[in-house]
Amino acid sequence: MKITCDIALDLIGLYLDGEASPDSKRAVEEHLRECESCRKYYRTLRKNTINQTDSNFPSLSSPPDSAYEEIMIRIGKRVRNTGMLFVGGALTFAAICSIASIHFIKGR
Ligand SMILES: [Zn+2]
Repeated sequence: MKITCDIALDLIGLYLDGEASPDSKRAVEEHLRECESCRKYYRTLRKNTINQTDSNFPSLSSPPDSAYEEIMIRIGKRVRNTGMLFVGGALTFAAICSIASIHFIKGR
């Protein structure tokens, strides 16, 4: 099936999304083999589609719940780490104070 560039450009989006019918797929592949400008468009679009899939931004096709949970877990870990640092710092400060006061008492 021969298709025009207009139709090919329309179908390339569907083709990359995997939503094109087998007939449309074949038509797009056939057109891309013969048409340089549509091939360029296809490459650009494919690169963008792959970039979108690779990034952590939640897309409409996959629910953002898992990404959201992961972010919350990461934030939770960081809060816990900071909390531990704070407790550790407070304990160290308390120890220094008690040592200093013992020295102070002994010194008198
Ligand atoms: Zn074309």
